[in-house]
Amino acid sequence: MADSNIIIQTYKYRLYPSKSQIKRLLLILEVARSFYNMCLGERKAAYEVEGRNVTRKEQNRQVKHYKRTFPQAKQIHSHILQVVVADIDDAFQQFFKRVKRGEKPGYPRFKGRNRFRSFGLKEYTNGFWIDGRRLKITGVGRISMRWHRPIPENAKIKTVRICYQGGKWYACLACEIPKPKPKPKTGRVVGLDMGITALITSHEGEKLPNPKHYRQGQAELRRLQRKLARAKRGSKNCAKALRQVQRQQAHIANQRRDYLHKLTHILIKHCDGIAIEDLSIPNMVRNHRLSKSIFDSGWGIFKDLLVYKAESAGRKVVLVNPAYTSQTCSNPECHESLESLTLADRWVICLHCGLSLDRDHNAARNILDRAGWFAPVSPNVEQWLVRAAEATRIVPL
Ligand SMILES: [Zn+2]
Repeated sequence: MADSNIIIQTYKYRLYPSKSQIKRLLLILEVARSFYNMCLGERKAAYEVEGRNVTRKEQNRQVKHYKRTFPQAKQIHSHILQVVVADIDDAFQQFFKRVKRGEKPGYPRFKGRNRFRSFGLKEYTNGFWIDGRRLKITGVGRISMRWHRPIPENAKIKTVRICYQGGKWYACLACEIPKPKPKPKTGRVVGLDMGITALITSHEGEKLPNPKHYRQGQAELRRLQRKLARAKRGSKNCAKALRQVQRQQAHIANQRRDYLHKLTHILIKHCDGIAIEDLSIPNMVRNHRLSKSIFDSGWGIFKDLLVYKAESAGRKVVLVNPAYTSQTCSNPECHESLESLTLADRWVICLHCGLSLDRDHNAARNILDRAGWFAPVSPNVEQWLVRAAEATRIVPL
């Protein structure tokens, strides 16, 4: 079972398949997709007709049958289809979990041709392995791979996922590596509020602005999307415009991930404990200062990176309840609600105790407080966050 001295780390590499290899990769995607839809249909029918859940085990048994029935599937490694079953099972577990929590999640959906973009293999040397500098996949061949960084020598490759994103192919190799030694304590904890105008605001009042390239990338994306909307459906131009949109989306995602990597690295390096809001809690009263679509995905990545880096550094990340963090006075002696707060208010004043603070700063102090850490009343103006940002050349606006 899970050994606590081992952590899983994923390394992503660009693949350069040949034309014939691309054909075979696309075929695998297509077969995996139809299998996915078939399994989903089966679960749906069983659920709607008999009120019964089809298990992963049951569907795994169908892999053999599927391979016998469909000539195209014959060539495909059964692990690929078993991973499809696992993916479906995960989708359903997520779905049921959210139903249980009283949310209204969408039922897992059938996947159209453009919505199925990855497949996986789950056992190193069985179906895939590293052959020299190439990645060998059974039924596809030896694919060129760009080793932009080496896999550590003590890493053990466990699984691979082949992804097709924005016209490019990638291999994500999940490896087991021994847990690194915890970093020395810094004696510092921090509460962070995340938002739109400032990406993060600390409980000490420092702000790290959203990087400029976020907005530039979004503007370019909107331009390409307009172009796509104008193109005639089904035409060559349309296909080209779609590729451009996907490429730009991937570019933005890469930039964001890169930036968040650097940022979380700094935070983990400087802090023993980090408190942020748990935005996965369904929360109707959550302030609307966050524009959902852009923000939530960024928060998810930020949280995941933070948690996983904290794990290997022996740091603590606390996710706190986000309810009313910006509508509550952060003075520990007071904690009254700040009722008249509107969206436009960038500054809050407490009518009970007279606390006067920047709104996000106030929220960050509440977040620290909810993690069980202490926020003194007078803000400490130590500029560690800004200094750290400069040190790694994250340039504030
Ligand atoms: Zn107060």
